[in-house]
Amino acid sequence: MSRTLKIKQLPVRQRVRLGLLYLSFLLFPATLYYFSPILIIKSGMEGVVNGSLIAFALMFLSSLFVGRLWCGWACPGGALQDFAAPINNQPTPGGKFNWFKWFIWTPWIALIAVLVIQAGGYQRIEPLYEIEHGVTFLTTGANSAEAPWFIAYYIVITLFAGLAVFFGRRAGCHTICWMAPFMILGRKLRNVWKWPSLRLVAAPQQCVDCQVCGRDCPMSLNVPAMVQRGDMEDSECVLCGKCVDSCAKHAIRYSFSKG
Ligand code: SF4
Ligand code: SF4
Ligand code: SF4
Repeated sequence: MSRTLKIKQLPVRQRVRLGLLYLSFLLFPATLYYFSPILIIKSGMEGVVNGSLIAFALMFLSSLFVGRLWCGWACPGGALQDFAAPINNQPTPGGKFNWFKWFIWTPWIALIAVLVIQAGGYQRIEPLYEIEHGVTFLTTGANSAEAPWFIAYYIVITLFAGLAVFFGRRAGCHTICWMAPFMILGRKLRNVWKWPSLRLVAAPQQCVDCQVCGRDCPMSLNVPAMVQRGDMEDSECVLCGKCVDSCAKHAIRYSFSKG
């Protein structure tokens, strides 16, 4: 069972992280359409590079250098699931559970590719495609978005919060997130080419196997085992730093290095 600490007891870094996650979640009614898996399909049919394609491309590019920092520090979906943790803080199963998202992502990407090819490729860039005034909640639908924005908002909220409540810590990140694969692929590419990037580094000799870091990991990773084998690389790690900050023996640290 993970420890529940009051905000004042958290290290400064974790307070900052929590603040960023709160802010991102508060802004979600404004930013929702920039993460839309639907608008990217619609715009692809018209050969338009839209806001969500740009956002997903930025996630991929950032993951080449900072891994899944977005997931750990700024994603409204991750924030929502962390807020659900006091209801169900059980670790998610991991393993095959993590493959589920690829069965969503692969056909979705294939569909977009086919539609874009049929449209003759991308011909123009419109970051605000079907986002009136650049803000989701100001999008009335007059510009052809069929359903009011809050329908999509409540569906996404219900889906991610529901999965976290039923299956445990950040279950939505493990199973249904259409954005995670972009960052996982970027991170794997970085590992192949071995360029310097943000990562975790362990000092196994300092570890006393107290298990605290594992209990605190929002992605339910077996952090003590990762420390023991001296390999902190896991495609599900979101670089939240909770393990870094919870280890009294300073056996885990951030590093910007080739690994
Ligand atoms: S996996 Fe998806 S929902 Fe979870 S934090 Fe990352 S981008 Fe957000
Ligand atoms: S919290 Fe530190 S000492 Fe405890 S298991 Fe994790 S790495 Fe080892
Ligand atoms: S291994 Fe550490 S940095 Fe990675 S998700 Fe778990 S607690 Fe966060």
